[in-house]
Amino acid sequence: MKIAMLGTGYVGLVSGVCFSDFGHEVVCVDKDPRKIEMLKAGKVPIFEPGLDRLMATNVEAGRLTFTLDLAEALDGADAVFIAVGTPTRRGDGHADLTYVMAAAREIAGTAKDYIVVVTKSTVPVGTNRKVAQELAAANPDLQFDVASNPEFLREGAAIDDFMKPDRVVVGVQTERAAQVMAEIYRPLFLRDFPIVTTDLESAEMIKYAANAFLATKITFINEIAALCEKVGADVKQVSKGMGLDGRIGNKFLHAGPGYGGSCFPKDTKALARIGQEHASPMQITEAVIQINEEVKRRMVEKLRDLCDGSFNGKTVAVLGVTFKPNTDDMRDAPSLTIVPALVGGGARVRVTDPQGRHEGEALLPGVEWCADAYEAADKADVVVILTEWNEFRALDLERIAGGMVTPRMADLRNIYSEAVALGAGFAEYTSIGRGREA
Ligand code: NAD
Repeated sequence: MKIAMLGTGYVGLVSGVCFSDFGHEVVCVDKDPRKIEMLKAGKVPIFEPGLDRLMATNVEAGRLTFTLDLAEALDGADAVFIAVGTPTRRGDGHADLTYVMAAAREIAGTAKDYIVVVTKSTVPVGTNRKVAQELAAANPDLQFDVASNPEFLREGAAIDDFMKPDRVVVGVQTERAAQVMAEIYRPLFLRDFPIVTTDLESAEMIKYAANAFLATKITFINEIAALCEKVGADVKQVSKGMGLDGRIGNKFLHAGPGYGGSCFPKDTKALARIGQEHASPMQITEAVIQINEEVKRRMVEKLRDLCDGSFNGKTVAVLGVTFKPNTDDMRDAPSLTIVPALVGGGARVRVTDPQGRHEGEALLPGVEWCADAYEAADKADVVVILTEWNEFRALDLERIAGGMVTPRMADLRNIYSEAVALGAGFAEYTSIGRGREA
């Protein structure tokens, strides 16, 4: 199969590289000349573990190329995947389809032969039909089918998720499109990964329902954590006891500073919006969105308490700013709420993150960037663990505490325990949902 991939972001690049690794011929296109230049030079514009090596192997094998020229990518292609961004539209929470629709028009203006136009971007129910209308209107002679193929990969584990998915969802209208999609995903089909074939609307809905459910699960445990603090329970023990129930499962049941990232915040808002538009309110999702904001605000208050009621004049070391470990993605990260509150409250903020600086510098004005946790914590009053990068999981806490002015720790990922922190010389330790420590 020959595949064109529109968009070389977190989803498009990983998908393109993995499809080429399946043995398909893949041409990745982007509008951003900087990205294409880097990719042509063998450099990966994002941080995703293992992607550089897999990309190099497939480029070397001649199956993977990069271009700014859509015509070159579409020439002879069996399918074109739209993997462009669908951010929250300013003002109303709806998914912004500007990039998807522009991509559809560009494809209509360029494609010559029958092609399957696959939407990989997360799009509201009904969008694939709109893409089909757009294609037909822009080029009435074009022979095409549309397909919905939402992506479920997680940044930081994207290659494994793509190569060993829990399922692949494919929404189609015609047998011809179903056959092309089956051929593209044959390597996974042969290895018994489930392929769920649906109509277009169900495929679109599966993606939003899955993400809203996961955001709900995280928010549920965050709310339980707040109650644990009041009643003297330990949320870590509670989630373990809950998660061992096979009907519940232990994933996405870790209390933290609120969900963030490029998907959950925007997808929950878009689902709420779709519900409102169809007079079928998504009340649980709407509550989740609101509670997640409260969770982030609660973190700020937790930190303020640890700073004796005021950030003014305090030095705060922040470990981790990306929305989760193993990515450089800062979109909607809790740090974007918490760090400005510290800076705005008059704290001196010293920040470190293994991959977040490149994106974070512009997003977090007024902070000092440090090489590692030890440098950040040097002469600080409070150290805050915001992202559970591996290198923050096994810190020499005695060394950290020894270099601080008044060693206090806010462990917003529950990596350590009060006993361990106090034993290492911290005067105070606070975490999430642990009213009483075992
Ligand atoms: P991204 O912002 O990282 O990448 C989008 C890319 O598309 C950019 O490089 C941009 O330059 C390019 N682009 C825009 N218009 C173009 C055009 N007309 N032609 C060629 N390139 C164009 O976005 P992302 O994080 O990869 O997300 C893409 C979609 O996948 C979104 O709908 C998102 O919701 C969904 N998704 C993301 C993830 C994730 O973890 N990031 C997971 C599952 C689904």
